[in-house]
Amino acid sequence: MASTTPMTFDYAPAPESRAVVDIAPSYGLFINGEFTEAADGKVFKTISPSSEEVLSEVAQATAEDVDRAVKAARTAFTAWSALPGSERAKYLFRIARIIQERSRELAVLESLDNGKPIRESRDADLPLVAAHFFYYAGWADKLAHAGYGPDPKPLGVAGQVIPWNFPLLMLAWKIAPALAAGNTVVLKPAETTPLSALFFADICRQAGLPKGVVNIVTGDGSTGAELVGHPGIDKVAFTGSTEVGKAIARTVAGTSKKVTLELGGKAANIVFDDAPIDQAVEGIVNGIFFNQGHVCCAGSRLLVQESVQDELLDALKRRMRTLRVGDPLDKNTDIGAINSAEQLARIRTLAEAGEAEGAERWAPDCELPSSGFWFAPTLFTGVTQAHRIAREEIFGPVLSVLTFRTPEEAVAKANNTPYGLSAGIWTEKGSRILWMANKLRAGVVWSNTFNKFDPTSPFGGYKESGYGREGGRHGLEAYLDV
Ligand code: NAD
Ligand code: MN
Repeated sequence: MASTTPMTFDYAPAPESRAVVDIAPSYGLFINGEFTEAADGKVFKTISPSSEEVLSEVAQATAEDVDRAVKAARTAFTAWSALPGSERAKYLFRIARIIQERSRELAVLESLDNGKPIRESRDADLPLVAAHFFYYAGWADKLAHAGYGPDPKPLGVAGQVIPWNFPLLMLAWKIAPALAAGNTVVLKPAETTPLSALFFADICRQAGLPKGVVNIVTGDGSTGAELVGHPGIDKVAFTGSTEVGKAIARTVAGTSKKVTLELGGKAANIVFDDAPIDQAVEGIVNGIFFNQGHVCCAGSRLLVQESVQDELLDALKRRMRTLRVGDPLDKNTDIGAINSAEQLARIRTLAEAGEAEGAERWAPDCELPSSGFWFAPTLFTGVTQAHRIAREEIFGPVLSVLTFRTPEEAVAKANNTPYGLSAGIWTEKGSRILWMANKLRAGVVWSNTFNKFDPTSPFGGYKESGYGREGGRHGLEAYLDV
């Protein structure tokens, strides 16, 4: 290598204005079309993880509040499920259009509350959120043609609990198919990122959605547990950690509630010696550093064919030196803030375990802001399958590199995980892609790309990554009595 110093540019700050969005000093619960305080008046604060500044105070829903929300959803279900699909579609199309119109506000709000770069909230999250509502709006009057019988019925009231990594997108994945199929919902956003869901509640009002069709209850895990355990719900949809997913499966066991669980992952991104190295590097970077690595389908294990390891790692390190870590609202930022102090502590613990177990740690020189929660993009080489950083979900910007010699070995290593959510294959050989895709136990397999999402495509996992599919025609099944 002639030089390992990449050409870098100096960028002037290019901050998106935070004045485009109004954040109220406090928010209530959204129940039956109105914002109300929690029964006991309790609130919690949500902060911006890039500055630790308090953004707002939000109600902490109690069991009584959850009960009220479920009852409102039950009452609303009668009329909502009886509407012709074409009428439900009108509301969903309206919501989709309002999301597009207000996407700049929503993108800024999401980046503030979550810490993700505005480039991603603006160009990935928000377009996908609108696309999900448009897509399922299109299904609302075509359910008879979805493959679930001539007149499939909704389940009733859905209790939905979502995580903090894609707050509004996970809301869209949950709410759009539920409503299209004629269900009503009670949704609980994550405690560190409640604001975009509350903003969405306002969009429901703006769209004239009938009262009680969508209810938003904010709170922590105890509110989530009240919701999934409530006898008045017919369906539980959860995205989050495998640990909580297992607890939820235990709670609903023996009830008639239908369940979908979308849990963790430890995806292999597999690079063969014939792969175009520069494209693979972009895919690896996108796979693990997109959204700070807070992605359940992140390509967190790089499996590289031994003969191209040195070349690939040189190119990857060169590329990593150009990643810009910092202010989420700056349009040039590639990697924003870690979502919470707890998540940062988890990432640090696992990274320390990587070093302690003998893997070699590398990160580019990068200056991290002094307040807020930050973690530099990090690479571990010399990783074996026994290492914790090869087995456990880190959910941060940390890549573990392993090697292989043959396609059989790549498959064996890729599948050697309790998870099975996604995988990536980089090779010029079409036949090898198909051979690999057949053998990989992963719900989604990307080839020569990574982290591609589309509302028409089902998403979900095997093994401890959960069960059920979201997105596409398959995603309707979870909300229909079939
Ligand atoms: P979590 O599973 O605790 O939280 C996800 C959601 O579940 C939140 O809304 C939370 O309030 C709620 N919740 C918590 N306990 C609950 C309970 N007993 N019953 C019902 N709902 C409950 O996840 P976390 O603590 O924020 O993150 C821990 C780890 O989980 C991360 O490090 C990561 O590995 C993984 N994770 C995965 C995803 C994913 O998309 N698959 C998302 C977030 C976190
Ligand atoms: Mn927050």
